Amino acid sequence: MTEPCPECGAAVGGSTGCAAAFEELGLRRFSDLRYAKWNRLMVDAYSLQHPAEYMRSAKSFAAHLTGTAAALERPDQSGFVNEAMVRWLSTNPILVRPAEPAAGRRGAVTIADVLSAADPAVAIPEWARSAWQAWSGLHAIAREWIAIATHDRAAVRRPLPNLTSVDSARDKFGRGRYV
Ligand SMILES: [Zn+2]
Repeated sequence: MTEPCPECGAAVGGSTGCAAAFEELGLRRFSDLRYAKWNRLMVDAYSLQHPAEYMRSAKSFAAHLTGTAAALERPDQSGFVNEAMVRWLSTNPILVRPAEPAAGRRGAVTIADVLSAADPAVAIPEWARSAWQAWSGLHAIAREWIAIATHDRAAVRRPLPNLTSVDSARDKFGRGRYV
């Protein structure tokens, strides 16, 4: 039996095999245009299942979590949401990185399923939905971050979880710091 990836559980030959599988899947967009459209969601789904490597900082954590949320919950606006997130994160808001779901509990669908699937337009969203569901404890903060980034006025009136004023922790260059 092929050794499972300790992070996502895919039987692809451990961490090394999983990293190679991710690279292979990423390269498919150059040979098969059907994959190109799903590249962002593919990266976000893989990140949710490998957060120690791809979501180490609060900034990357927020980007991949909200990228998945945007694609699955607001597909018609995902470009707008992702651009707003990039702009907001570039202002260096103080974010506390939340804890992620434990390894092996990040969704039953893995990259192994996507690699062998016939249609990326079905397989990649299924993979992302599986990972997103496993992260259900973080859905509220993902939506809150999106609301802040897109200046949803209703959200801004609510208290901001895991977020403090950027002015309270400027470094010597006057930039806000990530925690
Ligand atoms: Zn893996």
